[in-house]
Amino acid sequence: MPKLYLSLGSNEGDREQLLRSAIDAIGLLIGPVDGISPFVETEPWGFESPHPFVNAALSVETSLPAMDVLERTQSIERQLGRRRKSIAGRYEDRPIDIDLLLYGDLVLTTERLTLPHPLLPERLFVLEPLAEIAPQILHPTLGKTIQTLRDELRLRLG
Ligand code: AMP
Repeated sequence: MPKLYLSLGSNEGDREQLLRSAIDAIGLLIGPVDGISPFVETEPWGFESPHPFVNAALSVETSLPAMDVLERTQSIERQLGRRRKSIAGRYEDRPIDIDLLLYGDLVLTTERLTLPHPLLPERLFVLEPLAEIAPQILHPTLGKTIQTLRDELRLRLG
């Protein structure tokens, strides 16, 4: 079974509780969650907001195809109060955001889903927690481990 890695983020409401509710729903609707990173607090990325995020990464055992996973993560986002999608790269405060980071070695580009997540190598708030649970996993197109991608981005950002 391919291993699925997800990223969670919240900067509105009871952020830790929203992450815990999302993890419970993912366990019920997508598959057993077998790795949870520490929760980390981070500044908003790509937009201005006074409200910091809490982020985490998860690993999940699932037998669902990637598109079904996306449908279920989007349904969980709606259940937990997410109303609007970020449009054309414009971001805003949100109670919950769930991104698919990696799904085994699957490389996919469709209108609704890109895997690996295209911004994975650019986002320290994703790479830091992911490196806590999957440091040695290889990024299927970049051929580098998550730990290496994190270290390279840390250096780039100073
Ligand atoms: P956001 O508002 O950041 O949650 O944007 C989610 C949008 O990105 C949705 O329309 C998804 O169909 C699309 N998308 C493309 N690739 C991914 C991915 N790997 N994980 C989550 N959403 C994705």
